[in-house]
Amino acid sequence: MNIQVQLCGIALMILLLLLSNNRKSIRLHSKQAFIAALCGTLVALVLDVLSIIAIVNAHGHFTVFTRAICKAYLISLVWMCFSMNFYTTVSVGAKSSFMHYHRIISQIFICLSSFIIPFLPIYIHHTSRTDLYSYGPAVLYTYLAAFIFIIVNCYILIKYKKKLSKRRWISGMNWMVLLVVAAIVQFLNNSLLIIGFSSALGILIVYIRLENPESFIERETGCFNDLAFNTYLEQCYNRGERISMMIVQFANPHYLYERYYTDNINLFLKEFCKTLDESTKGNVFRYREWEFVITFSRKINLDEAANKLYSKLDRIWEIEGERANIDLIYTKIPNSFIARDAESMLEMMRAFRRDYSNSSDRHLFMGDEWAANYRREQNIEDVIVSAIKDDRIKVFYQPIYSTAAGRFLSAEALVRIVDTDGNIIPPGAFIPVAEDTGLILQIGIIVFKKACQFMVEHKLYEKGIHYLEINLSAIQCMRSDLADEFKKVIDEVGIDPSMINLEITESKGISSPEILISNMKKMIDMGITFSLDDFGTGYSNLDYLLELPIEIVKFDRKMTLAYFENEKRQAVIGSVINMVKAADLEIVAEGVEEQYQLDELAGIDIDFIQGYYFSKPVPEEEFLRLLDAQTA
Ligand code: C2E
Ligand code: CA
Ligand code: CA
Repeated sequence: MNIQVQLCGIALMILLLLLSNNRKSIRLHSKQAFIAALCGTLVALVLDVLSIIAIVNAHGHFTVFTRAICKAYLISLVWMCFSMNFYTTVSVGAKSSFMHYHRIISQIFICLSSFIIPFLPIYIHHTSRTDLYSYGPAVLYTYLAAFIFIIVNCYILIKYKKKLSKRRWISGMNWMVLLVVAAIVQFLNNSLLIIGFSSALGILIVYIRLENPESFIERETGCFNDLAFNTYLEQCYNRGERISMMIVQFANPHYLYERYYTDNINLFLKEFCKTLDESTKGNVFRYREWEFVITFSRKINLDEAANKLYSKLDRIWEIEGERANIDLIYTKIPNSFIARDAESMLEMMRAFRRDYSNSSDRHLFMGDEWAANYRREQNIEDVIVSAIKDDRIKVFYQPIYSTAAGRFLSAEALVRIVDTDGNIIPPGAFIPVAEDTGLILQIGIIVFKKACQFMVEHKLYEKGIHYLEINLSAIQCMRSDLADEFKKVIDEVGIDPSMINLEITESKGISSPEILISNMKKMIDMGITFSLDDFGTGYSNLDYLLELPIEIVKFDRKMTLAYFENEKRQAVIGSVINMVKAADLEIVAEGVEEQYQLDELAGIDIDFIQGYYFSKPVPEEEFLRLLDAQTA
């Protein structure tokens, strides 16, 4: 009898069924649909075998019973294709009207087919134990129905390709190809009964690639792994299910690695996961090596669940017999709908981690407010990227007045973005985001080049401007290739480097003063000079002022204002001025808006004045007019 193939298929399906159910699993709808497809194929294979046995044992006298079994087999084939189609629909999870009608029509179609096939004639061909098959209208109808399901299935896979992971898509397509090839072969050679078996192979592929519960479980700890988390999250968004989450993160994994053997750390982690699992009703995922995510359905109150978790985890943990210093960071995410899909949620989780990487807070909250800010930054990032692309990064210039010469001797280059409507976006609105994203490097080089070109092309030196001051961000200062990049621009534009003064700011961002100083030395060798910007804003310390090879100190607007506040401050600032002068540095006072400020500052040892009193930062043409007015 020609049933070995079918028996293999049956054995395979039973094995997969057992394997699918002997592991704990997250409530994934795709898994339930997979089990349905698996059972559908199993039933089809069993009926296939039964129909062959019935035909062989009928010895040419085909009774109603033989025909009934054969028809039952045909019906089961259509159901098998239906269940496969159901699995695909669930995986896609789309909520379009197409999917809605598809669901209704396919349900009507499967019911109708189950009703029609029993009434269609069927004939049986049986010459030997290996040459037997059924044919006739019932069989033709079955082929047709199966093909319709397969074609619709392929259509859904193609239409919703974007909603599926690559793995899922390829596995789904493999399954379809196997079925089509088997159906064609069986159609052309009726006695090769392989459709059921090839569907079993398709199921095997899907199992291995997508539905193997082992692949969702983390070996070391027995928690669900990151793949499980991604899949679960995807399902929640696709089905519009809102969840809440809690992230539990280790603040000091390095400490643990330095202190204990890896095997013992793993033992500890196993215990930790067990505690996590037992103290919550949610699903526990080990999302990253030292980060666990617990997901809760809407029904569970996150605050209560969190409190329970704190109380269970806040205990004495031991590793290698000693009390281990376990420092945990908790992040509550009360509403998964702050992100529109799984991918953006994962991106937001990464951004949140970056934002709080230096925080000493142990209870964090990723809520609406943070999300709104994140989205705003995200928008700003898009604005910057498009401004760079469309050359809408502009440089404005603010003149700097020399108290000795009684005229403008230099100017500060200040960046602006012109938005698509022609509005000017000030640097305060985008520089912090540009620094976070690294886009400041591109902006920095654009501003530098434009300022150099402006200086050269309009012969500013001849108009009395000896040099331009250009701002450097801490991020730029930390790049070891900064000097080389600037050198390239200088050569390209053909500017005399002594016409360039770079403003640096003391900030937390300068993590390695060595790189900064080496950059400065290289550029000083070229002829560039440096200023220390924002002096008096909190970060300034005198060491910096004395250590760095600078020539100018720029007093921040706050410092300028403070000078006029009261006598005590005036005295203190007066002695700071003396000290700066003693170090042989020049001083720029920023933020001068009033005549009396100018008069007073010009009377003491301030070399330069910058402020709205003379001019706000203005576009190139306006700046040129300012200079022309000065020479006139
Ligand atoms: P900053 O370097 O301290 O620049 C001086 C800021 O003070 C400018 O603001 C300027 O318009 C403003 N200002 C000048 N005089 C007065 C005054 O009399 N009164 C008041 N109220 N404000 C005055 P702006 O152009 O908005 O720039 C803000 C900051 O953005 C700059 O502060 C600088 O830190 C940063 N920035 C600007 N351009 C660049 C750039 O090309 N690269 C980098 N990395 N940062 C830049
Ligand atoms: Ca500046
Ligand atoms: Ca400044």
